[in-house]
Amino acid sequence: MLARFDRRGFLASSAAAFLTQIAPASRASAAISTHVPLVVIDPGHGGHDPGAVGVTGLYEKHVALSVAVKLQKEIEKAGRCRAILTRNEDHFIPLRDRVRFAEQHNASLFISIHADALLDPGVRGASVYTSAVDASDKQTAALADRENSVDPNFDLGVGKVSPEVATILESLLARETSAFSAELQSTLVDALDSHVRLLNNPKRHADFAVLRSIAVPSVLMEMAFMSNKADEQLLQTEDYHDKVVSSAVQAVNRFIGKASVQR
Ligand code: ZN
Repeated sequence: MLARFDRRGFLASSAAAFLTQIAPASRASAAISTHVPLVVIDPGHGGHDPGAVGVTGLYEKHVALSVAVKLQKEIEKAGRCRAILTRNEDHFIPLRDRVRFAEQHNASLFISIHADALLDPGVRGASVYTSAVDASDKQTAALADRENSVDPNFDLGVGKVSPEVATILESLLARETSAFSAELQSTLVDALDSHVRLLNNPKRHADFAVLRSIAVPSVLMEMAFMSNKADEQLLQTEDYHDKVVSSAVQAVNRFIGKASVQR
């Protein structure tokens, strides 16, 4: 059994196993850790990138930061894990740096927080996205294109390992990380469903640059859509922020609570 959230240990032990063919028992013991899980919360946009702008002039970057700060406090208060933010001020961070930040901190999970706009003003509700090369639908493909447009030269490497090792690590980790991301997505959608209105088919996927970590389970939450008048109004209320935050805290704790995975 490996500690589920010791992603760095798993990465290191997997690389070591391939490079030196050490015994499985040694691999497992190298990967076991008792660290407190870390949640990286990523408020979308910032600085020169306002994100979506609502009909009343509300900026997505400000809503995302407000909710992220509140979420960090509530996660810490719940006591199951630590939480840090990719930004706690109004400044721009390239998407690749947000991914690296989570990996460098050995995060157990990553939640990017958004409230974007869609072309159809009638579409509303919360939704949660995971990474996939092929988008689940045209609407989500367009959403990912707009998100990624602030960072067109994204190219996530896997550090200074050789291309052969990088390929091995990617194939080892990508599938597991993807499964964890899907589980986190389901858990978050279930929690949101008890508190807020959801988009139809609220579990979607597309090639979001900020979700491309091969090591950290990652989701992007659209709290609601700025392009919808009713949603934009909700996004300006503390009550709605509280509902989103309590859903996310519930989901994080449930996800973390499923203690370990057989390998
Ligand atoms: Zn956004």
